[in-house]
Amino acid sequence: MSQKRDYYEVLGVSKSADEAEIKKAYRKLAIAYHPDKNPDDASAEEKFKEAAEAYEVLSDSQKRAQYDRFGHAGMNGQGFGGGGMNMDDIFSQFGDIFGGAFGGGSFGGSRGGGSRVVRGTNLRVKMKLTLEEIAEGVRKKIKVNKLVNADGVTYKNCQTCGGSGRITRVAQTFLGAMQTQTTCNVCQGAGKMIDQRPSDSDAQGLKRQEEVIEIDIPAGVEEGMQLSVTGKGNAGPFNGVPGDLIVQIEEVEHAELKRDSENLHYEAHINFVDAVLGESIEIPTVNGKAKIKIDPGTQSGKVLRLKGKGLPILQRYGHGDLFVHINVWTPKKVSKEEREMLEKLRESENFKPRPDKNDKSFFDRMKDMFSS
Ligand SMILES: [Zn+2]
Repeated sequence: MSQKRDYYEVLGVSKSADEAEIKKAYRKLAIAYHPDKNPDDASAEEKFKEAAEAYEVLSDSQKRAQYDRFGHAGMNGQGFGGGGMNMDDIFSQFGDIFGGAFGGGSFGGSRGGGSRVVRGTNLRVKMKLTLEEIAEGVRKKIKVNKLVNADGVTYKNCQTCGGSGRITRVAQTFLGAMQTQTTCNVCQGAGKMIDQRPSDSDAQGLKRQEEVIEIDIPAGVEEGMQLSVTGKGNAGPFNGVPGDLIVQIEEVEHAELKRDSENLHYEAHINFVDAVLGESIEIPTVNGKAKIKIDPGTQSGKVLRLKGKGLPILQRYGHGDLFVHINVWTPKKVSKEEREMLEKLRESENFKPRPDKNDKSFFDRMKDMFSS
């Protein structure tokens, strides 16, 4: 597979480019590399398609945010985002780019009689993921109930627009007769309407059907993040292009570990004797367990940092850290014997608190934790 160019680079815009700049840049490229202008020029067609794909992603705020975060790696794995637009898809974009007047006129007019491809609606699903799944990345199968084209649907030309998908109006103005074209509102520009359809389909010849879809979830995703899978949404009416499947990530809370973006936190409770004498304890990690050493004389509130034991970071190499917060457990009840032993310790000069500058305050520790 050849190296894919950066979408911003393809359109020649900066990462901070706004909608208007992106549209303008694409318009320029679409005109320059339009197949009608470059007949039998395969490299122009490649560039034309490349620009269309870049525009398809960067003009959609959701896909753009996803691309900014995941890059091509995230977009392609399972057909996320762009990837493989056909000429019909590209020409169906043109209505937005060149406005109604251009839409079916000189551009794309030679293809499909000017009618446009109707796009299906997006399908939204929520997906619950455990911390373990997020840590490793996971391939998930989900069952969706989506609109598909029913078998046995036949079409005829739209009677309102005569199959062109457009309605031409002539208005008398002081400049003379002016022709304006608008998309036919009866067929939504498809130029077609249903002739016959089976009884279990709706007015657009669609019906609901369950489908199992496999999705690769990259490691490190977060609650609320949306992944879009191109072409896996509802079918487009009149055999149009399907919409996208939008997967919204929901995190299942872990029983012991708390997540803070790529870092994890664990509250460890140790007994007072272990804090005094030192001990090695076992703690949970996202993919198993780890042993950590508690030094003799450990204070309650100490934070140990396990480098790289957090979650993978999206779009970058490396992992976050696991922070172990030490809490010294104080027994609520003691036996008579224990009381006698403790009373003796109470008298010991060595047990008097003597915090020195090495026993940092809570605020100092927080400062240490966030500067690394
Ligand atoms: Zn029509």
